[in-house]
Amino acid sequence: MEWRGRRESSNIEDRRGSGGLGGGLGRGGGGLRIPIRAGGGGGIGLIIILAILWIGFGINPLSVIGLDDGSQQTTSRTASNNGPGVGGTADETDNFVAVVLGDTETVWGNRFQQMGQTYRNPTLVLFTGQVSSGCGNASAATGPFYCPLDQKLYLDTRFFDQLRSDLQAPGDFAQAYVIAHEVGHHVQNLEGTLERTTQQRQQVSEAEANAISVRVELQADCYAGIWAHDTQQAGYLEDGDVEEALNAASRIGDDTLQRQSQGTVVPDSFTHGTSAQRVSWFRRGASSGDMAQCDTFSGQL
Ligand SMILES: [Zn+2]
Repeated sequence: MEWRGRRESSNIEDRRGSGGLGGGLGRGGGGLRIPIRAGGGGGIGLIIILAILWIGFGINPLSVIGLDDGSQQTTSRTASNNGPGVGGTADETDNFVAVVLGDTETVWGNRFQQMGQTYRNPTLVLFTGQVSSGCGNASAATGPFYCPLDQKLYLDTRFFDQLRSDLQAPGDFAQAYVIAHEVGHHVQNLEGTLERTTQQRQQVSEAEANAISVRVELQADCYAGIWAHDTQQAGYLEDGDVEEALNAASRIGDDTLQRQSQGTVVPDSFTHGTSAQRVSWFRRGASSGDMAQCDTFSGQL
């Protein structure tokens, strides 16, 4: 992706180095409780990292299920010698994140204007370790998430290291996809979709609630694809960018993560969709550029 020297969003809130919050459990916008089993040959580190991604990659908005116990908070972070992000310094990563966020502002600002609506820019909070959000406290183990109550995205950029190495999803556009997916949840929030689906989820069984969650997540993937489409139209994509995002989408499908972390796959517990579904819906948005193609709520997925 061509990003150097381009406009950076000013809607960044840097809370790094501001200290921890204590071990409170998040409520409201937190992640999903996840089973972590230490067996198998993958090593606990990988299992934890996969679990982090499973819950963290666009966690279930407004979920009332708290974050898991604090024990994983300290073990889940791996030291990095290389600095996070695009492959260079932490400063570079900051610039990259700000450019990508700026691109989402441009794309969705134009899209909403075309629909006769006004897009409100979300704020992206950079944090390290733990953070207090409008949806409760969260740790880095939650992974990137969006809180609809304060309309902010939360990102610990060290997550990019895990995406690149542990999840084998390298490339700047894989990282951009993470941000674009979370912004997709913000778009859903502005559309009223998050509020509607949250109410629906509270009235059904857990399996049915998970199924609704999958539809929410896949629409966010499709919206990330819409962003990729418009960014490509603007001339900022490079060869291989879309493939990087598709690879990332594939690496974080529920079936793939479950198979790697627990050796078995439990479809009823899916909250984000299979690898094939995530790839398919991102691709649908990216190739069509048509938000109407992102209706994940009617019909088969
Ligand atoms: Zn999500």
